Amino acid sequence: MKKDYIIVNNLTHTYGDFVALNNISFGITKGDIVAIIGPNGSGKTTLLRYIVGLISAKKGVVSVGGKSPKDMRKHIGYVPQHFTFDRTIPITVQEFMALESCAKIEHECKNIKKALRAVGMQKFARQKLGTLSGGQFQRVMIARALLHEKDILVFDEPATGVDVAGEQTIYDLMKHINKERGSTCIIVSHDLSIVSSYVNTVICINKTLVCQGSPEKVITPKKLKALFGAATGVYHSH
Ligand code: ADP
Ligand code: MG
Repeated sequence: MKKDYIIVNNLTHTYGDFVALNNISFGITKGDIVAIIGPNGSGKTTLLRYIVGLISAKKGVVSVGGKSPKDMRKHIGYVPQHFTFDRTIPITVQEFMALESCAKIEHECKNIKKALRAVGMQKFARQKLGTLSGGQFQRVMIARALLHEKDILVFDEPATGVDVAGEQTIYDLMKHINKERGSTCIIVSHDLSIVSSYVNTVICINKTLVCQGSPEKVITPKKLKALFGAATGVYHSH
């Protein structure tokens, strides 16, 4: 059996008295494409924040490549679910991208251009960030996550605010990077038909691990009913 690259072991997270993750354990192998699914409020975003090293585990263990996620942060590209900023800030797309590596644009120009090209946003490099549409901004966030050939890509509902064609592009890109670089990809998505066709492994969570396996094994009416409840349709959970 392959050794797990990302390990979550007995992780519990509370917000005050509220338990958001309850003793959750699972592993992800290197180079896998994984979808994390679960109802709203099931702890998906909280879990990703541990994996990318924004929260340190107090109850339980999270490790990436045998290290603490915090020490692996520069190898992890993360597209958060919510990223808000003041739209009046006079910063261009390429300046925003350069912030990711604390570098001057001149030093990063080639990498920034390449990443923006990958998401079809090369023409917007000098445009002010605040003038982009929601979908365009989301593409820039993805380009930012692609800088510096990351070992791990973590996307939290990246298709939010993106049209169907754009959504396809995001997933195609992820698949391409996975194939080219062997990057491990983790994606939170509500679109189960996309999940089925793009990922190798599905992890179902509802505060704790409900099930884990191939899309064929996990995305079945019975398992989805157990995860999302009786009122949920099979293919569109929201
Ligand atoms: P998901 O991404 O699956 O929708 P989240 O991880 O965002 O779930 O949230 C899990 C639960 O924790 C939800 O009930 C949410 O309301 C709660 N929660 C998330 N962030 C906070 C916070 N900063 N303070 C208090 N409760 C929070
Ligand atoms: Mg979330």
